[in-house]
Parts: sequence; C-alpha cells; structure tokens
Amino acid sequence: MNMKAVVIKSPGVYKIEEVPVPRPSQGEVLLKIEACALCGTDQRVLSGEKIVDVPIVGHEITARVAGTGPGVKNIKEGGRYVVQTVIGCGICPMCKIQRDNLCENTFKAIGYQFNGAFAEYMIMPKSGVDHGNLIPVPEDISAEVGTLIEPLSCCVNGMKYIPMEEMEHVLIFGGGIIGVLNGLVARARGARTVTIMDVSQERLDLHKKLGLPFDNLVNSRETNPQEWVDQHTNGRGVNAVVVAASVKAIVAPALKLLARAGHLSVFAGMPKSDPVSEIDLNLIHYGELNIHGATSSAYNEFITARDFLVSGKINGEALVTHRFSLDDFHKAVKTQADPSSGALKVIIIP
Ligand SMILES: [Zn+2]
Ligand SMILES: [Zn+2]
Repeated sequence: MNMKAVVIKSPGVYKIEEVPVPRPSQGEVLLKIEACALCGTDQRVLSGEKIVDVPIVGHEITARVAGTGPGVKNIKEGGRYVVQTVIGCGICPMCKIQRDNLCENTFKAIGYQFNGAFAEYMIMPKSGVDHGNLIPVPEDISAEVGTLIEPLSCCVNGMKYIPMEEMEHVLIFGGGIIGVLNGLVARARGARTVTIMDVSQERLDLHKKLGLPFDNLVNSRETNPQEWVDQHTNGRGVNAVVVAASVKAIVAPALKLLARAGHLSVFAGMPKSDPVSEIDLNLIHYGELNIHGATSSAYNEFITARDFLVSGKINGEALVTHRFSLDDFHKAVKTQADPSSGALKVIIIP
C-alpha cells in the first residue's frame, strides 16, 4: 500500500510523492496522521538552511493508531494521541527526572532523527513507545487544536520556574505563534496583564482580528519599549519578559524593563554565528533578577499543555488560521512564510 508524503530530496528541494506505507516492526506503532502543523523549524529544514537526518519532517502531530508491531502493550488500535517530539536515552540523570529535552546523551526527535508527519502515516519508534511519547488526547478537541499541544508544551516548559500567578504584568517580545502561545500560557496561569510587543503592525492587527486575549498590543518599532513600560508600570517595571524572537538586541535592554525580582525567559534561540551579548550583571545582582532558558519540552509539559487546550483555558481554535492538504503543501509553506497572508498557525490535513 502506498501513501502520500512530502519527501526532502536534497537541501532545499522537496516533493509530494507516493511512497510505501511503513510497516511497524517489533515494538513500533503505525500512526495515521490526522493533522500536522507547520512550524518555523520545519520552514528552516525545508528551505535547506537546517539539515536533519530524515527525508520526512513534521513534529506537531495529532494521530490515530493504525497498527502495532509485535510486543506493543497498552496502545490500542484507533486510540488518539499526540506525539511528544523528544525521545531521551531514558537512563541519564535528566531523563530519570522526565527532562528528556535536556538528555545528557543527546536526545533523538521525531521529524529530526525519525521520520515525521507530513505524510499520511508515520512510525513511532520502539524507544518512543517505550518512553511514553504517545500522549493520549481526548476526542473533545479537534485534530488541528491537538497539533498546538507540542508548541504550547515548549512555552509551558520555558515558564515553569516563573511564578505566573503572582505576576501583575508580563511582556512578550515577538508576536508570532510562539509569542502568542507564551502569552496565552502566562494568561492561563494567572498573569493579570499580558502585553505583546512586535515590530510588525500586521501581526498585531492579526491578534486583534482573531480576538486574542491580550491587554496591550504594542508596536515596538514606533514605541520605545522602555518608555512604554515606565509609563504603564509607574516606573516599577514588568514582572516578566519573554524573548520570543531570535533578536539578540532585545535581551540586554529587556533586563532594564524588569521590576525587582523579575524574570527573563530567553525562549528564542539566537543565531549560532553570533550568540554573545554583553549584559549589566549589576542589574541581576541588585534587582535579584531571574534568567531562564527554554529548549523543547518533555512529558509533564505535554500533559499541562494538553489540559489547557482540552479544558478551554486556552482557546486553540482561534489560532488555527489555515488548513491545507498534502497536495497543497507548497502553498502551505508559502502562506506560512508570507507576513501579509494573515497566517498564525498553518495545518496540514493529509
Ligand atoms: Zn515545532
Ligand atoms: Zn538521557
């Protein structure tokens, strides 16, 4: 039996092809893809800027079990799951405390070292099945909303040491889907005021049009962030800043926007060729500031993210702006990359 898949032929070149449906071997699970969202990393792989080990990418997945290999227990055919991307070694100290995203033996990931879900079917490898990377998801949410669990889990992870429920004001730099998801997690966890800053008015207008629950949408090209924050917090500063844009120049000045005991989350990765930044250490020392990193996510963050969406604490439907079939994959990629398209989350429905 054949299936449709988006196959990367060489860096920057991919085709929609008929390929054989993979067969689950010992311990593996065959998944029929209900939906898979396009993310920024996929875009970088598809353009040839980033190289991965496999020809099929796509890691923001809702799927149903279509078959199991010999020896698979506790996974039923027809069961509906989302896929935890990162598969840790399972034996290092980080994996032992369910922080597979920080695996000391270098984790493997779906869509990077194992084929992903821009296809009709994919295989969950034995290591993923054994480590519980199939996360059950109820029928209450659509397949499209299910795909948001993965990126949302990364935002849950980036904020897990920030006491959001105590926060008067949280500021997010970057109004792309990741900035939006960070803002929604802050809100869902009880932050009283959430502000999004972005240099693109188009993006901010889109948030307004979609009715996203943010208090302030600020164009940081036209408005000086420091002046805006001083004015809106009586000079105290905001309690947390999340940098959700790969712009190094935001980070050092962001420390000056923080109130005492404030939190800075460096969510976005910075260009590998130029990641170094000078910061005023006395801001951290005297202000008792806290700085956090964020890289991918693991089991606990998936569960929290799923429950936010299933309970309706976060409205996922509002974020899904575009749906495409595998046949229209090229169009989907173009739409996602075009700032004037009004795209926030673009989903492939095979
Ligand atoms: Zn992603
Ligand atoms: Zn490990």
